[in-house]
Amino acid sequence: MLISIDYDGVLASDPELWNRLITLSLRRGHKTIVNSGRNEISPPSKLPPETAFISTSGRAKSRHLENRGIHPDIWIDARPFSIHNDFDACLIPDTPKPAQIAIDYDGTWTTDRELWSSFTRYAISRGNQVLIATGREKQDRIDPPVTPSIPIRYTSGMAKSDFLKNLGIHPDIWIDDKPALICRDFGLVF
Ligand SMILES: [Mg+2]
Repeated sequence: MLISIDYDGVLASDPELWNRLITLSLRRGHKTIVNSGRNEISPPSKLPPETAFISTSGRAKSRHLENRGIHPDIWIDARPFSIHNDFDACLIPDTPKPAQIAIDYDGTWTTDRELWSSFTRYAISRGNQVLIATGREKQDRIDPPVTPSIPIRYTSGMAKSDFLKNLGIHPDIWIDDKPALICRDFGLVF
């Protein structure tokens, strides 16, 4: 699969953590691409050579990449709305370190449980908080996917960001195969 990683709000906030994810992903046969919403900035010097870098100049990232024949399967972003909407690329997100990271389950965690488990363990060891945010109903429970176990939040189809906000949870970084659903209710489709 192809994993898209935002530069300004994600990779730049903790290069050691996210470069580890890139390395783990490449080792497991996945591809990664790093993007920045800013205008034509130069690629960060420490990216692995197999990882492409692209500036999207404030345009909706998915459209910008699709126009170049690039179709990420999973998106990692501090501002998920920037994936499908044009946005102000001058506003660089202020991602704290350590951060709170929300990972989707279906289509994300399930695509490579070993990858996301390893990454989660490493992220937690560096002081980050990790939770699973799934659109599933609570009765449709999933097994705790990692040891030590991490919280699982069932949004029952509610927009994930709104649902978590109501619980006082404000993830800094989202990992999701369908980022449009983070900010929008989506019935029972996940
Ligand atoms: Mg999903």
